[in-house]
Formats: sequence, C-alpha cells, structure tokens
Amino acid sequence: TTRAARIDGKGFAAGVRARVADHVAELTSVQGITPGLAVVLVGEDPASEVYVRNKARQTREVGMTGFEHKLAAETTQAELLTLLARLNADPAVHGILVQLPLPRHIDTEAVLAAIDPAKDVDGFHVSNVGLLATGQKALVPCTPLGCLMMLRDRLGSLKGLNAVVVGRSNIVGRPMAQLLLRDDCTVTVAHRHSRDLEAICRGADILVVAVGRPRMIPGDWIKPGATVIDVGINRIEAGDGRTRLVGDVDFDDAARVAGAITPVPGGVGPMTIACLLSNTLTACCRAHGLPEPE
Ligand code: NDP
Repeated sequence: TTRAARIDGKGFAAGVRARVADHVAELTSVQGITPGLAVVLVGEDPASEVYVRNKARQTREVGMTGFEHKLAAETTQAELLTLLARLNADPAVHGILVQLPLPRHIDTEAVLAAIDPAKDVDGFHVSNVGLLATGQKALVPCTPLGCLMMLRDRLGSLKGLNAVVVGRSNIVGRPMAQLLLRDDCTVTVAHRHSRDLEAICRGADILVVAVGRPRMIPGDWIKPGATVIDVGINRIEAGDGRTRLVGDVDFDDAARVAGAITPVPGGVGPMTIACLLSNTLTACCRAHGLPEPE
C-alpha cells in the first residue's frame, strides 16, 4: 500500500528544458544571441564521459551551442588553466563547466577559482558560494537548484517548514541548506558526526538526503506526510550478475510514510542537467544585460 506521491523529476526536467528552449529560440531570433556552454573533461572516467555526453546532447536539443573540450588524462594544470582563460575571454561562451572529479595531479580548487564567476554555471566558484550564502544574486549549483524547484512545485511556500539536509558536500548539501534558508525554512544540516540522525530526520517536513549510501534511510525515520528528496545515486548488485541504481532512501519503505518522494533514477538526476541549461541561459542573459528567465 504505497501512499506517497511520486515526484516526477524526469517529467519536470522536460518541462524546464522546454521553457529554456523557448527562451533560447526567442533570444536567437530576436536578439541574434545563442547561449553557449563549454564542457571540459579531463581524462577518461567512464561515468564522467556519460554525463558529458548527456550534457552535450541536451545542450544541442535546447538550441544552445555546445563546446566540448576533451583533454588527455596527462593534461597539466597549466594547460587546463590556459584553456579556461581562453573560454573566459570567448564571448560565444556563456557557461563553463569543468567535469569533476579531476585527475589527482590537478588542484580542483585552483581550477574552479580560474573560472569567470559570471560563467560559472556549476556555481562552485567561491564568489558564487559567498553570494548565495549572503543572500545575493548568484549562480546556484545545479543539483540543489533542481531539488528546490521540485520542493517549491510540490509545496508552494516553504516558509517555516523544518528542513533537514543529510550531507554537507560543497556540491549538494551545503548549497541546498543555503537555498532552504533563503526560502525561510528552519534548516538542520546533518553529517557523519551528527548524533541520533534518526530523531533529526523524524523532525523533518522536508528531508533532503545526499550521502551516497544505498538505502540508508528507512521508512520509520520519516515523519508521516514529509516531502523526501533523494539525491543519492548508488549502483548496487541486483543478483544474477546485474546492477541497478538506488538512492540513499529506501524508496518502497519510505513511500509508505512520506507525503511525496523522488524516485532514483528519474528524480533529482534529470533535474540537475535541466538546471545546468537554465543556469547557462541565466548567465547569457546577464552577460547581455537582458531580463532573466524566471
Ligand atoms: P560527498 O561524498 O561529497 O558527501 C557525502 C556527505 O554525506 C558528507 O557530508 C558526509 O559527511 C555525509 N555522510 C556520509 N556518511 C554518512 C552517514 N553515515 N551519516 C550521515 N552523513 C553521512 O557526496 P556528494 O554530496 O557529492 O553526493 C552525495 C550523493 O548524491 C552521492 O550518491 C552522489 O552520487 C549523489 N549525487 C547525485 C547528483 C544528481 O545529479 N542526482 C549530483 C551530485 C551527487 P561528512 O561531511 O561528515 O563526511
């Protein structure tokens, strides 16, 4: 007896992409501007290659120009910084994304710092992090932005709700907490050292989980009626030698208790790329002093 509504991230993402595509078509026909997104991949990580391919395809599908830069694993940090300087200076490039993780010989923080904050569509540059943390106009990391959109769509105003974010990474947990705070939630951020995680989770009207541990959150950790956003993507053995993807929340168990929950796959994942395209459009509009999309 499943009770929770299944939040359709895949369908929601298609809607976001359609809105972006409409806006891009108008920009191109009326202003003669085509938003451009440069994606930089260093090395041959198979998962990263899949992400980059998907990003490139969806970039083209919404009518933007995609610039793909695939560099060898041996690429030096200096070479990468030279490429970023060129992309920063290129007026056809409105968004720059460096696919993480980078090979170990490259200093990730130095690379992220070298991206023009106005083109930093991943929102990882410290200047965007600081702008978000101080409630100013920033480019916001795509995964938490997608989560926020789904929460607002589901709940309307988030004002006064108890939000618990499990995980405090720079990519998901921390910016998610900032966005929820900006929307007037009472925010708790939990991590490895949190005591009585179960009780913390049970107090959540909104529970966002970004940990990377398959099905670590069971149904009885969830407040009845809560909205659950499962960011985790974990590959597990499915028996007979095959594998499948599961989230950080035990979906079937949680769905008996929650009011609404995102599935894995088909929840947060598709929203992340849609938000990347939306951020690229935003960066493009700001670069040209044009009104921004909603
Ligand atoms: P990180 O490994 O960077 O961060 C994991 C966080 O979880 C850390 O803050 C860690 O705490 C915390 N944590 C680990 N174990 C526990 C525990 N037992 N109890 C409480 N907290 C714990 O991961 P990311 O944030 O990058 O990613 C999290 C998950 O989301 C992964 O499965 C990843 O694949 C997925 N993901 C999905 C995306 C999407 O598009 N849908 C995009 C990005 C990530 P501490 O800080 O104390 O170590």
